Amino acid sequence: MKIIMLGAPGAGKGTQAKMIAGKYNIPHISTGDIFRANIKEKTELGLEAKKYMDQGLLVPDELTVKILLDRVAKDDCANGYVLDGFPRTIPQAEVLDEAVSKLNDNIDYAVNVDVKDENIVRRMSGRRACLKCGATYHVEHIPPKKEGICDVCGSELVLRDDDKPETVEKRLKVYHDQTQPLIDYYNKKGILKEVDGSQDMKDVFNAIVTILGE
Ligand code: ADP
Ligand code: ADP
Ligand code: ZN
Repeated sequence: MKIIMLGAPGAGKGTQAKMIAGKYNIPHISTGDIFRANIKEKTELGLEAKKYMDQGLLVPDELTVKILLDRVAKDDCANGYVLDGFPRTIPQAEVLDEAVSKLNDNIDYAVNVDVKDENIVRRMSGRRACLKCGATYHVEHIPPKKEGICDVCGSELVLRDDDKPETVEKRLKVYHDQTQPLIDYYNKKGILKEVDGSQDMKDVFNAIVTILGE
């Protein structure tokens, strides 16, 4: 099963993608996580990506497409994957379509997690991330067992630089300009599924399972 998660930054794509990956036993692929891992390791890719991420801008398609295509070519993707944060532009979607159809395959669903902008800003300022294992929490809605510490790996949780309110507003604008058109793109392909992302995390997941099947 090949699934794409669509939605604004902070809509809950990552949270849901991790649950989907667990239930359907497919890898969760987040281009944002791949970039952050590279920033942490100070690779060339990381240094280049950081310039854009810190400003709330998208990393250029050229760079992003390459890392995504390398990732989905790995053996663990043979039975499918859930993409979180890719594609974010029409050209990225076209490259993905081309790569998948070369394998005589297709994307099964594009799930749009819909949350209004005003709720987004609240979610992002409360988001706390573990940069070691990629786990994500929310100070109010989904708190870790011990404040500031990752339940999964025990590392310290951080507020991502790009989750500060000034950058969030920029990212939302970029989302509306460059990423939102993908909703129409996948709707035309007949694989778009909408879920109400403002519900409790478990209810959002139930809605997704109803779409994907048990
Ligand atoms: P969120 O979903 O919370 O916005 P991500 O972790 O998906 O965060 O992305 C963080 C940043 O990484 C984005 O703001 C962007 O700069 C960069 N990024 C991630 N995925 C892509 C992509 N597919 N294309 C371009 N830039 C990306
Ligand atoms: P995205 O990957 O779309 O950027 P995340 O999954 O990281 O979004 O979620 C953004 C923030 O909102 C995180 O702090 C997360 O813990 C929290 N969150 C996710 N889903 C929900 C939900 N249904 N209700 C409340 N908070 C949520
Ligand atoms: Zn962790």
